[in-house]
Amino acid sequence: MSLMDSPQDRAFRAQVRSFCATHVPAELRDRVRSGLRPTPAQFRQWQDILFRQGWGAPSWPQQYGGAGWTPVQLHIFEQESAAADAPPQFHQGLELIGPILFTYGTQAQKDHYLPRILSGEDWWCQGYSEPQAGSDLAALRTRAVREGDHYRVNGQKLWTSYAHEADMMFCLVRTGDEARRQDGISLLLVDMKTPGITVRPFATLDEQTHVTEVFLDDVRVPVTQLVGEEGKGWGYGKVLLDRERALTATLGVRLKRQLEYVSQRAARTRDGACALIENREFRQRLAQLEIEITAIEYMGLRALADAVAGADSGPRGSMLKIRWSELLQQVNRLWVDALGYDAARFRLAGPAMPMEGEDAYGPMSAYLHSRVTTIYGGANEVQRNIIARRALGL
Ligand SMILES: Cc1cc2nc3c(=O)[nH]c(=O)nc-3n(C[C@H](O)[C@H](O)[C@H](O)COP(=O)(O)OP(=O)(O)OC[C@H]3O[C@@H](n4cnc5c(N)ncnc54)[C@H](O)[C@@H]3O)c2cc1C
Repeated sequence: MSLMDSPQDRAFRAQVRSFCATHVPAELRDRVRSGLRPTPAQFRQWQDILFRQGWGAPSWPQQYGGAGWTPVQLHIFEQESAAADAPPQFHQGLELIGPILFTYGTQAQKDHYLPRILSGEDWWCQGYSEPQAGSDLAALRTRAVREGDHYRVNGQKLWTSYAHEADMMFCLVRTGDEARRQDGISLLLVDMKTPGITVRPFATLDEQTHVTEVFLDDVRVPVTQLVGEEGKGWGYGKVLLDRERALTATLGVRLKRQLEYVSQRAARTRDGACALIENREFRQRLAQLEIEITAIEYMGLRALADAVAGADSGPRGSMLKIRWSELLQQVNRLWVDALGYDAARFRLAGPAMPMEGEDAYGPMSAYLHSRVTTIYGGANEVQRNIIARRALGL
């Protein structure tokens, strides 16, 4: 695969660049630059802007309303939107349940839900993890019992991101007690307004409340909300693995831009008579990160080449996830260091009470939030197990 843009790719890049230059709302751009995650309303706003352009689902096939882009175009889009300080799209509807629905859903489910994901009308949350079922997800105990034309669901989900904002939840439930635990699991689409659902948000280390506990007490879910076959829900996630190569290839792209934020901040922080950016030790750390980010970028390009060729990437997705999450934590750590003494102003008041000092809250919040990246999306220890099995045959 050539690293140079083809003439078509160059034209596409120019189109995305000019679109981003004029369509990223200033407030959203400032928030991304500050290190704070966009609010749910801002995620929806960006989704709406992309949808109106016909780019609501960059990675979906055109027949379902997607942009139908090639893996290279997806990569260019990600590079240009990162350079323009646009946020990533909120992924749980778009990348997690959307592809499962257009692959395994009924026609009625596709017709109803896919357009609403594209337009951002429905916000989806992922109800998989439970108190005793995280890495070992097959241990989940939330149970759905069929009663005529509906299921009666009882149980508890944990760590459900943005359930308090969500219209819908895609939820793994136990419908059988087969010897192989994965065989008794089904996938249900649950309307969050259904009686019996209680959502309890709780704050995490970064003082934001984006995760929740979800309690389901005698929740009636129509049988028409079952995706695919009863007891086959576990297997439907596999469709996401096939898409993973093209998507994980873009993981490193935003790190480069984030490192630029760090440099910009360090240029404004005093270190004795100079700016911190002049400090030899700080510059070494910056340079080391730049080298490592360049390495992950090329790792991403290899995954991209595999995606273009339709080749098996082996455990490259796991390798990228591990390196990306570690580097993100290191970049954010350096960003906090770049704040100098301003970092000490972060206090237990939360974003509702802004700190004095223009931009100190965002990097600290980003740093604390990035602790989760080595845990979610498959904890890094679990990713290492995958690499050991698939690459080393252990
Ligand atoms: C901020 C946040 C948002 C999240 N959002 C969602 C969401 O929207 N929806 C959802 O369903 N879930 C979500 N999760 C849950 C997330 O997927 C789980 O936290 C993750 O799967 C790990 O599970 P656990 O927390 O139960 O930890 P455990 O699985 O108990 O793991 C604890 C430790 O043991 C290690 N470990 C576990 N098994 C092995 C193994 N076989 N070999 C080696 N080490 C192992 C882990 O790596 C980890 O270090 C979120 C979590 C967080 C923190």
